[in-house]
Amino acid sequence: MSARVQRLRERFDRLHLDAFLVTFSPHLRYVSGFTGSSGIGVITHDAAYLITDSRYSTQAKQQTHGWKISITPDSHFDEIQRLRLLRNGWRTGFDGNTFPFSSYQTLRKKLPKVKFLPNVDMIENIAAVKDESEIMRIKHAVAITDRVLSEILDILHPGMSEQDVAAEISYRQRRYGAESDAFEIIVASGERGVLPHGRASSKKIRRGDFVTLDAGCVYEGYHSDLTRTVSVGKPKSEARKMYQVVLDTQARAIAAAGSGVLARDLDAVARGYMREKGYEKYFSHSLGHGLGLQIHEPPRISKQSNARLEAGNVITIEPGIYIPDVGGVRIEDDILIKNAHCEVLSSSPKELLVI
Ligand code: ZN
Ligand code: ZN
Repeated sequence: MSARVQRLRERFDRLHLDAFLVTFSPHLRYVSGFTGSSGIGVITHDAAYLITDSRYSTQAKQQTHGWKISITPDSHFDEIQRLRLLRNGWRTGFDGNTFPFSSYQTLRKKLPKVKFLPNVDMIENIAAVKDESEIMRIKHAVAITDRVLSEILDILHPGMSEQDVAAEISYRQRRYGAESDAFEIIVASGERGVLPHGRASSKKIRRGDFVTLDAGCVYEGYHSDLTRTVSVGKPKSEARKMYQVVLDTQARAIAAAGSGVLARDLDAVARGYMREKGYEKYFSHSLGHGLGLQIHEPPRISKQSNARLEAGNVITIEPGIYIPDVGGVRIEDDILIKNAHCEVLSSSPKELLVI
C-alpha cells in the first residue's frame, strides 16, 4: 500500500474517522495511481477499495498496487452498499470542496446509519509536499510552457488577435507533450491588461500595448503556470516604471521564500515593497498559490494564509499591478521550496522585452 494512503490514514485518529471516500479524480489519481475519469476510492483502517466500471478494469489493475478492485455496471454507491464497505455508525470523511451535495443526499439515503463528514483540503494538505517524481513532472510541465512562451514572443506582432495568440500557445503546448492546457490561456493586451484574468478576446494587439500572457499546461497530471508581460512597441515611461516595480517585487519575494516562512509574511514582503513604491492599491490579488495536481491548491500565499512553507512545496510567485486606463503587468514563476531558500523552476527571461 502506498505511503500516500498511509499518510491519509494517519489523520483518521485525530478526526475520529473510520473511513474516507476519495471521489475527486485528481485525488484518486494521487492516492491510488488510477487515472480513469470514473471511479471512487474507499479507504478504511485496513483496506483500500477502488470501485469503477468495465471500461477501466485492465487499467485499474495495472495502475494500482494493493487496492481491491471492484468492477460494477451499477452506481458506485450501490456497490459500496452491496459489498458492505461502510459499517453502521462509521464516521466517513469525504472531500468537502468537490463532492456534490446531490451525491451526499443520495449516499445518506442509501446508508442512513453511516455518518458522512466533509473534510476540506485533507488530501490537498498531504499533497502539498511533493516527492521527487512529482517535482520531475512539474519541471517537465514548466519546461513545456517555458519553451512555448519563448516561441510565442517570436511570432507575436501587431494585428494579431488575443485569441490567435492563445490558440498558438495551446497548440504548441500539446505538440510538446502536454495532456492539456492547465486553464484557459490568458492573453490580455492594452487596456484589457487591467483584467487580471482577462480571457483572450477578439481584440487585436496594437503597437504600444503591453501584452500579458498567462499560460500553463498539464503533464502526467501535474500543472505549470507562468506569466510574462511584454511590450509591443516602445513602452511609455509610466508603463516601464510599473514593469520594473513588479519585477523587483517578484525578486524580493523569491529571495524571501524558503522552508519555515509563513505564507502571509511572504505576501507581506511583496505588498510592503509595492506600498513603498506607491502601487499597493493596484496589486489586487494574492501573491501566489500552491500548484501540482491542481492549478490552485494549498499552500495559498495571501494576506490571510496561515500556511507555513515546507521543503517540497511548489508555489507560484505572481505579483501584478493593474491601473485603469493605463494597463496591467504581471510576472509569474513557479518555485520549489527548499530548506533555507527556493529554486525557480522556470527560465523564461524577465527583463522587459520590447517586440
Ligand atoms: Zn497564471
Ligand atoms: Zn497562478
